[in-house]
Amino acid sequence: MQNEQNEQNSVPFPARERADVLPNKRTRRLAVGNVALGGGAPVVVQSMLNAPASDVQANLAQIKALADAGCEVVRMAVPHRRDLDAFQAVCEASPLPVVADVHFDPHIACEAARRGAAKLRINPGNIGGLAATDAVLDAAGEAGIPIRIGVNAGSLDKSLAARDDLSLPEKLARSACAYVEYCERKGFHDVVVSAKAHDVRATVDTYRLLSTAIPHVPLHIGVTEAGTAFQGVIKSACGLGILLEQGIGDTMRISLTDDPVQEIRACWALLGSLGLRNRTPEIISCPTCGRCQVDLISLAKQVEQRLSSVAKPVRVAVMGCVVNGPGEAADADLGVACGDGCGVLFSHGNVVRKVPESGIVDALMEEVAKL
Ligand code: SF4
Repeated sequence: MQNEQNEQNSVPFPARERADVLPNKRTRRLAVGNVALGGGAPVVVQSMLNAPASDVQANLAQIKALADAGCEVVRMAVPHRRDLDAFQAVCEASPLPVVADVHFDPHIACEAARRGAAKLRINPGNIGGLAATDAVLDAAGEAGIPIRIGVNAGSLDKSLAARDDLSLPEKLARSACAYVEYCERKGFHDVVVSAKAHDVRATVDTYRLLSTAIPHVPLHIGVTEAGTAFQGVIKSACGLGILLEQGIGDTMRISLTDDPVQEIRACWALLGSLGLRNRTPEIISCPTCGRCQVDLISLAKQVEQRLSSVAKPVRVAVMGCVVNGPGEAADADLGVACGDGCGVLFSHGNVVRKVPESGIVDALMEEVAKL
């Protein structure tokens, strides 16, 4: 048995370079307001407002909630020309750079650029063809702001959508690349690209094609229309996790049919899980089993809820018994290893004290506050 273990221990595992999971350094560095995007900058976390476009106060309240959760860039739909005044007011009061999301009417995009947009997002499939973007490029150039070319499977350019000799990823990538080429021929280089599908594999394949075809262009990654929170987080974590692990992606959105704040929480949890960016607490908790003698599921949920407003990358272990509890609790920044109706509290590997089950959550939070 000992020999067998020694043999297993002698297997040479290749060292894993952290550079494997760093954001792409080959992309061009752009500025979205005061936020650096691309060129090896940390992956930018963003979301989209869903308050009515005309309601300035509702949008500003949502921006504040998103900023508090760690959002760095926010996008706002500007569906009608009559919404431009509200858009301008939001830009003027927003603590975050605001991206104007414009479909169908290039005039709105031009005006948004003049009225404070930190970036424009247009869709090649519905903005009126290549020529219709000339005025938008001029307006963005004059304002000194980037443009995101956002291709979606649901609104592909009709001539490309009709081709049955191309796969969906090829169609999406070709559409985006044609637009990038057009912008660059016109002398406009501050371009970000997204090409999203609701299908995880199609999304991953599309971004892989893009990162090869236009390696200098920053990529906004996301799985579009990913669904409600449970399914959406899983699909997004699968798709974006694969891409981020390969160094693909300069900014990200996790699209959820939910409160946009949940999108930001999911983004940070994903970035933290990959070790790319850490901002929020991580909970290490066991699944419980027949050995557990406290209500660990309730304790872990209470700890998660209390930590949801903490913006520190602290690791907190909430463990059910002596099997793995002391090891995990000692390894985390803070932890509790539970026994029969009680728990032993750890801080940075050292035992702090023993507390009754009813005091575990408060005791952990007291230790969090000291960090
Ligand atoms: Fe079960 Fe203990 Fe492992 Fe939790 S730590 S799953 S209670 S053995």
